[in-house]
Amino acid sequence: MSTEREHRQCVIIGSGPAGYTAAIYAARAELKPLMYEGMQPGGQLTITTEVDNFPGYPEGVTGPVIMEDLKKQAERFGTEMRFGNIANADFSKRPFLLVDDDDKEILAETVIIATGASAKWLGIPSEQEYNGYGVSACATCDGYFYRDKVVAVVGGGDTAAEEATYLSKLVKKVYLIHRRDELRASKAMQQKVFNTEKIEMVWDSGIKEIVGEQKGFAKAVTGVIVENLKSGEERRIDLDGVFIAIGHKPNTDIFKGQVELFENGYIKTVPGSTKTNIDGVFACGDVQDQTYRQAVTAAGSGCMAAIDAERFISSNE
Ligand code: NDP
Repeated sequence: MSTEREHRQCVIIGSGPAGYTAAIYAARAELKPLMYEGMQPGGQLTITTEVDNFPGYPEGVTGPVIMEDLKKQAERFGTEMRFGNIANADFSKRPFLLVDDDDKEILAETVIIATGASAKWLGIPSEQEYNGYGVSACATCDGYFYRDKVVAVVGGGDTAAEEATYLSKLVKKVYLIHRRDELRASKAMQQKVFNTEKIEMVWDSGIKEIVGEQKGFAKAVTGVIVENLKSGEERRIDLDGVFIAIGHKPNTDIFKGQVELFENGYIKTVPGSTKTNIDGVFACGDVQDQTYRQAVTAAGSGCMAAIDAERFISSNE
């Protein structure tokens, strides 16, 4: 065995509400958890502004504050945090082998996967070019910069409907661009969209290109070329910002071939638990949740994962 390897009872990968809650419970159960926080400690909530639905905050709380509180709570009970990613995992035998992005090797008796999900992108070159300069995947983070301006939201699900409604309170006009002629969003969200005058639907359409210009040292979006997917007709819409809201992708690339995944990449867990098909490997939060995807449900499943890990270790001692 390499001298570089350390041996751990419990390694938690990911630091959203699921990871931190797993850490609080695992630390209190004296598993001395090691957490890899990833490159965005705190996860998706750190790019959110107001969180009004996390129980225990009657006045609401901001995403970054709630994540900082969860982190402090996990540290208080002795969780060791490491900034960075796990680059490779080998679950073929226990202890499991994890390799971080500094090539450090860790042997883990149990692994809790809490790597969450990331926003999906359209995949057109101009989207990358203007990312951060008028292209965003988070209206609550960046909407503020578009006061009294014109924006587009792309997508037809609850997120797109919610972001369009949210933005309509700040901006002059919102184009909601969707590739079909009906929304996937819940009926209640659809009604909100249709009842909001500032939102104009652009049906059956996709963005072909995001166009912009150099403004001093920075770039700025000035419009989009939209294609009607039925007629093939193209037109330009002048606007200042584009919000992509076409869903999320679970962060499971390094676990392919190691744990059982659904076709869309989400980790399969045994219903009512956080167990994966590998004994000793558990998954919690958005990485295994295609339905609820809420901070509080992620936190709840993080608690379950730590309890599952603790019981697994006790029953194998
Ligand atoms: P969804 O997967 O529900 O919707 C994604 C939308 O993006 C769909 O309309 C889809 O089109 C469209 N889309 C996907 N890929 C592309 C692409 N490449 N180009 C153009 N359009 C594309 O994701 P959401 O993030 O909206 O929601 C995820 C989950 O979270 C859902 O279960 C939702 O109900 C829930 N949620 C609940 C909220 C609430 O209750 N307040 C708020 C936000 C989310 P198509 O319809 O044609 O497939």
